[in-house]
Amino acid sequence: MPELPEVETSRRGISPHLINKAVKDVVLRHTQLRWKIPQDLLSLLADNILISIERRAKYLLFNFANGTLLIHLGMSGSLRICPLATPAKKHDHADIIFDDCLLRFTDPRRFGAILWLGLTPEQSPLLYKLGPEPLSSDFTAQYLYKLSRNRKLPVKQFIMDQKIVTGVGNIYATEALFSSGISPIRAAGNISEKRYQVLVDAIKEILTQAIQQGGTTLKDFVGSDGKPGYFQQTLHVYGKAGESCPRCQTELKALKLAARNSVYCPKCQR
Ligand code: ZN
Repeated sequence: MPELPEVETSRRGISPHLINKAVKDVVLRHTQLRWKIPQDLLSLLADNILISIERRAKYLLFNFANGTLLIHLGMSGSLRICPLATPAKKHDHADIIFDDCLLRFTDPRRFGAILWLGLTPEQSPLLYKLGPEPLSSDFTAQYLYKLSRNRKLPVKQFIMDQKIVTGVGNIYATEALFSSGISPIRAAGNISEKRYQVLVDAIKEILTQAIQQGGTTLKDFVGSDGKPGYFQQTLHVYGKAGESCPRCQTELKALKLAARNSVYCPKCQR
């Protein structure tokens, strides 16, 4: 599943090819994604110039003078820049065609989304409740400490709540909790501000590293082959239940938290 670093890498990969270019056409081959792609997308976008592409949580926001187009990659979506008239393959559901290239949306499982948000994207039900970006200066230990007082929720669920902080998916929550020595099941309200500082630093560091690793794949966003935006990351505990802890050699355990698999070291994480 594309996580925040993959979405940010997608944004950086496609932006230089599309910014300041006008939309010439839209081709929709399969409109039923997570929600239906608006049928009037062509009339909304035709001859409009793409001003910028922003990322909010895992949403990409394509800003035009008359409104914002949202694209979400869902479970298996990807975006790629292709030469004009590149033949479509099976899961290539939508093309936005610019002057000299096209943006192709591919999504085998069709949990992604392409939606028109108009001129007030921040009021969209998808966006308005989102917490701060994890890499922004608003995301601090003091912020987490204050919000977590009296909360019995396990800390892993707390930091994966999009209203608390956006875009900390299962991989990054698992790895950041390991790195900071905090048990995923510890009550959020039972963690000191000092320990939240270690956790916030770990989240920022792990996400920044992943985005830097994604930078090596930027060329993969051009062309009709391959699967752009997915890259190998260095993982210490995620997906490694039953293996030994890289720090103390204790066997890593797994438990389910809110239906998500959580791997942790019972000795290092408290
Ligand atoms: Zn350990």
